[in-house]
Amino acid sequence: RELVVSFGEMLIDFVPTVAGVSLAEAPAFLKAPGGAPANVAIAVSRLGGGAAFVGKLGDDEFGRMLAAILRDNGVDDGGVVFDAGARTALAFVTLRADGEREFMFYRNPSADMLLTADELNVELIKRAAVFHYGSISLIAEPCRTAHLRAMEIAKEAGALLSYDPNLREALWPSREEARTQILSIWDQADIVKVSEVELEFLTGIDSVEDDVVMKLWRPTMKLLLVTLGDQGCKYYARDFHGAVPSFKVQQVDTTGAGDAFVGALLQRIVKDPSSLQDEKKLVESIKFANACGAITTTKKGAIPSLPTEAEVLQLIEKA
Ligand code: ATP
Repeated sequence: RELVVSFGEMLIDFVPTVAGVSLAEAPAFLKAPGGAPANVAIAVSRLGGGAAFVGKLGDDEFGRMLAAILRDNGVDDGGVVFDAGARTALAFVTLRADGEREFMFYRNPSADMLLTADELNVELIKRAAVFHYGSISLIAEPCRTAHLRAMEIAKEAGALLSYDPNLREALWPSREEARTQILSIWDQADIVKVSEVELEFLTGIDSVEDDVVMKLWRPTMKLLLVTLGDQGCKYYARDFHGAVPSFKVQQVDTTGAGDAFVGALLQRIVKDPSSLQDEKKLVESIKFANACGAITTTKKGAIPSLPTEAEVLQLIEKA
C-alpha cells in the first residue's frame, strides 16, 4: 500500500504573459493548470510514487483537459467526477511589481465546490497510505461535507492524514471564518504543513520562534512543518525538532514550491513510514523535499516545473 490520495480543487490559473503587472494591465494571459491538491498528486507521481486525485471538474473543455493532465502525469483519476451544470474553476493570478500576489477567482459556484459525499470513490480513498487535503474544499457545501466524509473514510481505513491549509483569504467570507474553519479540522491530521504567512494568520504572532509554532502543535500529530521559502523549513515531531536549510537556486516563479515540497515529503513517508519516528531519516526526507521545492521555483508555473527523482538527487549531490 503505497498510494498518496490527494483531495480537493483542480483549476486553471490564468497568469499574465509579462511579469510585474496588475490584472488590469496584463496584455494577455497563459493557461496554467493548478490547484494545490492536484499539484501535490502530480509532484508525487513525477517522483515515481503512486498518486490519485479526488475532486470535481466541470464537464467542459477545461475540465476534460485537466483530467487528461492528471492521466498524462501518471495520476489515477478514478476519483474525478464531472459536473454537467457548473464550470471548472478559474483563477486570474498576478505577481505585481510591489511583490504582492493578486487573485481573482471565478467560482460562482465552480464544479469543485459541488462534489457531494455520494460521489466519493470510497474504494480508492480506502487504498490511501496517505490522504492529503487543503482547506479550500471546506469553504462551501456540499464539498465541505464530502471533504469531512473522505477524511473519515481514509482514517478508518488506516491512512495517515496530511493537511496543508493553503490559505486563500479572498475565498472566505471573513478572516475570522477562515481561521475557525481551518482550525476546525486541525486535530485530525497526522502531518500538517504551514507557510510563514499561515503561521502568522493562525497564531496572530509574526514570528517563527519555537514557542509560536508550538501553539499549532497537538499531541495527536506526528509531524508539523513550517516552510520558510529559500530558508528551507522547520520540523516538529513528538520527540525532536529542528530546521533544515534549502538549496541555492536561481528563483524564477515560486508557484507550486510548497506543493512540490509536500508531494516529495509524502512520497518519502509512504516509501518508509519509519522516517516519521527516526530524526535522521526524517531530516534526509526533508532535505529531499526542500530540493524538490527549490527546483520548482526555477521555472515558470507549478506543474511544468515539478522535478523527477533524478533531478532532485542531482541538486542534492551538487550542493
Ligand atoms: P506556496 O507559495 O506554494 O504556497 P509555500 O509558502 O507553502 O509555497 P515555500 O516556503 O515558498 O512554500 O516553499 C516550500 C519549500 O520549497 C521551502 O521550504 C524550501 O525548501 C523550498 N524553496 C522555496 N523557495 C525557495 C528558494 N527560493 N530557494 C530555495 N528553496 C526554496
